[in-house]
Amino acid sequence: MLSLICLLIYSRVFCWGFYMHEQINYHAVFLLPPEMMILFKPNIGFLTEHAVDPDKRRYVVASEGAHHFMDIDHYGAYPFPGLPRNYKEAAEKFSADTLRIYGIVPWWVQTMLGRLTSAFREKDRRLILKNAAELGHYIADAHVPLHACSNHNGQLTNQLGIHAFWESRIPELFAASKWDFFIGKAVYIKNPGAFIWARLLESAAAADTVLRCEREAGSAIRPDQQYAFEDRKGLLVRQYSTAYASLYNEKLNNMVERRMRQSIFAVASFWYTAWVDAGQPALDHLAQDSLSAAEQQEYQQLNLEWKKGKVLGRDCEE
Ligand SMILES: [Zn+2]
Repeated sequence: MLSLICLLIYSRVFCWGFYMHEQINYHAVFLLPPEMMILFKPNIGFLTEHAVDPDKRRYVVASEGAHHFMDIDHYGAYPFPGLPRNYKEAAEKFSADTLRIYGIVPWWVQTMLGRLTSAFREKDRRLILKNAAELGHYIADAHVPLHACSNHNGQLTNQLGIHAFWESRIPELFAASKWDFFIGKAVYIKNPGAFIWARLLESAAAADTVLRCEREAGSAIRPDQQYAFEDRKGLLVRQYSTAYASLYNEKLNNMVERRMRQSIFAVASFWYTAWVDAGQPALDHLAQDSLSAAEQQEYQQLNLEWKKGKVLGRDCEE
């Protein structure tokens, strides 16, 4: 007899899901030139594990949430000409507080790029890896259509749960077995601001498709076949069925895979751009150090808060 049944679809929802953030940072390492690979490859475990720190931090710091999204439809219709792409101009027009309410991901990506560039300049191994891991997270978030849309979990259209369906369930079912991560090489980005705004606008333009295809897939599959129970570490979890997920993925014409590939390319290219802008410092002598006791304690604390906590600010589940 079943002793435990968990009725929720996943216990928690994160941006791109933990699995995908880890995968994106992991694959990005292989797009780097050898001069960077010498530091990044031996530390691929750190870059992968700490890809999700920004989501964990949302359990500790209320202001963290705004860094992960932008409800750009608040500012009118695509391509949102009323929203200045320059932060100072946007803050003058709408106030800094308003910008934070509706999310600041494209600006935060640029702030993090600045931090990574400084870390390279100072040859600070700890800060290079920390900022690279976290910059990867925010760039990946900007590639998710529902991170650029106020109907971010289908709550306005009776599609609650779609956030995790798109960014967690589909990748977990298909990424490892079906998707291709041979992407080529990182490139130097001349105008990082324009680059990340372009990706965010693509996300915003795709949000309607993300919602529409889920509705279509839902009406093509009988309600009793839309969900299935799956074993997850000894718990039975109610989950979108494989048939439903396959049909949704098909209707999306592999959009999730495409956005993931674009994320990987963008993450590697931002890392590379920071290193070039810092004057291409030699990194070989930095490769061997390990975390200090204080650093290890800091990360343990972050994990602890995340495990016991509740998201401060906006939660993707709501
Ligand atoms: Zn996030």
